[in-house]
Amino acid sequence: MNQTPKRFIAGAICPRCAAMDRIRTWEQNGIRYRDCVSCDFFEQLPVEDEPPRELPTRVNQPRDNQQPASQEITPVRILDPGRRH
Ligand SMILES: [Zn+2]
Repeated sequence: MNQTPKRFIAGAICPRCAAMDRIRTWEQNGIRYRDCVSCDFFEQLPVEDEPPRELPTRVNQPRDNQQPASQEITPVRILDPGRRH
């Protein structure tokens, strides 16, 4: 079984019951579905073909303009100070 995963839309408000974060969406066979888990709101929309992104033309762009990584991500380690039982 190949089930289509349903995802909640963060911040989406149901147009029927006005509940937030209760709208799920999924796509199937070129149709985008949305429904609400709080009421029986349901709709389906055709998935529009996304316009192709304009590919950057192959201009000779200088590569010496690389930005240095200004923010180094420091991994946060929570060290447990050897608590003994
Ligand atoms: Zn609803």
